[in-house]
Amino acid sequence: MNFVSTRGGEKVSGAQAVVNGLSENGGLYVPEKFPKISDKEMSEMLEASYAERAAKVLCKFFTDYDAAELSAACESAYAKFGVQDPAPLVKLDDGVYILELWHGPTCAFKDMALTILPYLLRKGCDLCGIKEQILILVATSGDTGKAALEGFKDADGVKIMVFYPSEGVSKMQKLQMGTQEGKNVNVVGVKGNFDDCQTAVKEIFSNSEYAELLKQKNVRLSSANSINFGRLAPQIAYYFSAYLDLVSAGQIEMGEEIDFTVPTGNFGNILAAYYAKQMGLPVRRLHCASNENRILSDFLATGVYDTVREFYKTTSPSMDILVSSNLERLIFEISGRNSKLTSKRMEELKKTGKYEITEEELQKINEVFDGGCADEDECVEAMYDVFVDTGYVMDTHTGCAMKVAVDWFEKHKKDQTEMIIVSTANPYKFPQDVLYAVTGNDVKDSFKGIKRLHAATAMAVPKCLKELRDKTPRFTTVCDKKKLFDEVLAFLNK
Ligand SMILES: *Cc1c(COP(=O)(O)O)cnc(C)c1O
Repeated sequence: MNFVSTRGGEKVSGAQAVVNGLSENGGLYVPEKFPKISDKEMSEMLEASYAERAAKVLCKFFTDYDAAELSAACESAYAKFGVQDPAPLVKLDDGVYILELWHGPTCAFKDMALTILPYLLRKGCDLCGIKEQILILVATSGDTGKAALEGFKDADGVKIMVFYPSEGVSKMQKLQMGTQEGKNVNVVGVKGNFDDCQTAVKEIFSNSEYAELLKQKNVRLSSANSINFGRLAPQIAYYFSAYLDLVSAGQIEMGEEIDFTVPTGNFGNILAAYYAKQMGLPVRRLHCASNENRILSDFLATGVYDTVREFYKTTSPSMDILVSSNLERLIFEISGRNSKLTSKRMEELKKTGKYEITEEELQKINEVFDGGCADEDECVEAMYDVFVDTGYVMDTHTGCAMKVAVDWFEKHKKDQTEMIIVSTANPYKFPQDVLYAVTGNDVKDSFKGIKRLHAATAMAVPKCLKELRDKTPRFTTVCDKKKLFDEVLAFLNK
């Protein structure tokens, strides 16, 4: 299977797509053609474990990798979750399910991909004959950073550096990253918001002067951001797995269409659902949930992607994003895979902060996607209502999705289609906000929040979060958004 860039240019192999991260012209890699999972394969996957299902999906894309080795890598990646089912489905109500994607090492859904990405990247380097040291640069709004650090810590021939908006992540997220162990890791705060952070990291990838300097040092840049196809592919797997679980449990017939509601920031998670549909998974609609930063729900309603607007810091920081990078992949598909037009739109976005798609394109998108959003109060209400009705505790990101799903139910009372709401973080990652939502209590400190939330809900506290309390941060540097490359050089020279 080959990959093409959304902005045109040469075809590359799966290994090259993973190793390069972004194509040279700034485009994102997409499969030349979507591989299909047949009905027969679906039936075979019914009996399979999560790791086996994931391997099945990955093998479809990464045909240049050894299938047996890839399967073994999936086994060991998902064994790190330490639970029997890395992506369990919880029934909330008739026809309503929660897909919990936060049982991995860092308690966020990013683990679903970042536990397997190190293998894909290391093997990809071997397949491409790359001998240089790899430096992974990550811009994170919180959860990716920690999951990437944990995935890549002490990996041979790889260094990893994570940049986060210094005031734009939760205290738990900052602590999780700041206390990261491993010889090959570095974490730096950036003065600004996530978009500043992401833009500054992208600049490092595209700056030719920097490229020359890195070449002299025998260093090759790579990304672990959700623009890397190696991040997207493993995410496709859980949509298949959740579907198969519903079939296994006798909740749907094989072939019946279902809906997903996905809390969305960079558009990676929900795009993976769309890709699953392209591969043949019976998906009817995808509901894209935003928080107060409702750029995506506005886009899905109007066809105008307009970043020229106020940016809000919310209690769902991983969705505080104005430039959803992965949307470029959807725009590319919808334009009929027109790379010239996609390039033009992305140029426009860079220059003017906005672009617009055609009426027909918007219609095509709306055949599958619709958008909704939750402001801070609505998110709290949704979390509270579910807790009171069912005892189920969800985090703030999932709360936004819940609100959007409930809006859909209210507007479509006769709709019998099963709905899976994707849950992206363990509630204890945002203990104060979740505590406030379910009890109305405000506490000043995260660890007090954990204690009280546990008292109120009896939900188990994950060990990796409980332990943070006794750790001292190793990384406290904060830099100006124009000075990221200085930090990179300092890290390489260390
Ligand atoms: C990353 C993240 C999201 C957003 O996912 P995208 O793939 O960026 O759309 C939502 N919730 C949580 C908890 C996350 O970590």
